[in-house]
Amino acid sequence: MLKGLIRKIIPFSSVDGPGNRTSIFFQGCNFDCLYCHNPETINLCKKCGTCAFVCPYDAVEFLGDHVKWHEEKCMDCGLCLKNCKNNCGPRTKYMSVGEILKEILKYKPFISGITVSGGECTLQKNFLVDLFEKVKKLNLSIYVDTNGSTDFSKNKELTDLMDYAMLDIKSFDKDEHKMLTGMDNSIVLKNARYLASINKLYEVRTVIVPDLLDNDKNVDEISKLIASLDSNIRYKLIKYRPMGVRENKIKSLSPSNDYMENLKDICIHNGLSNIIIL
Ligand code: SF4
Ligand code: SF4
Repeated sequence: MLKGLIRKIIPFSSVDGPGNRTSIFFQGCNFDCLYCHNPETINLCKKCGTCAFVCPYDAVEFLGDHVKWHEEKCMDCGLCLKNCKNNCGPRTKYMSVGEILKEILKYKPFISGITVSGGECTLQKNFLVDLFEKVKKLNLSIYVDTNGSTDFSKNKELTDLMDYAMLDIKSFDKDEHKMLTGMDNSIVLKNARYLASINKLYEVRTVIVPDLLDNDKNVDEISKLIASLDSNIRYKLIKYRPMGVRENKIKSLSPSNDYMENLKDICIHNGLSNIIIL
């Protein structure tokens, strides 16, 4: 049976799409963004067993070829992650669709839908298809929070089942995108155009980092792209915040409110009407 590798499930979230949603975070990402504020969701466990020896609460078991995390014993002390040379820690779980549905059903009366996020959830696209087929039957909406590296036009089953995508365009410039994430942005931009053409692009997001990116140029180009697709698509400008980032990868201050407002003005000038600063 296909299982998904899950980092965590947040029962109620009001920041991962419209309304109150259950958010499911998948482990593993193919980007390595310099400003990632959840870097422990990037790598997959290398099964070295170190965490099992450092956990003071016996919440991690080393079984020779893998480690097992016992959630009920975990005291959230953070020692396992601190000692993990792979920077992932053991706190993930393989879950079946049935197990995730059981969680969703607990919250169903209070939510309008689910959001799948990560890590990069579309790396587990076959599992998502199985999950979405079942969630559809519950009459819940499905939003996909993605870095845009999976070509949605070539994954029709997934794209047909989801309601909307929330897409990161981290940089319009391919070299800057590569410097920031380690990957090319050609599929990301292709996805923006494709998802808008089938009316499934709910939101585009860009993180604003003053000392790393050419933000004026970037926001200018991305907002022009969105305006050319559908000026009502929401564009979220997210302030870089240094919490949780890897300090050896990035050194930047958070942008000021004025700095963000200037970027918003660029978007308005380019014809966008639905702009959020976060
Ligand atoms: S956070 Fe890690 S080290 Fe701490 S109790 Fe939980 S599993 Fe053990
Ligand atoms: S979580 Fe990290 S420390 Fe623990 S077994 Fe995996 S790679 Fe090793």
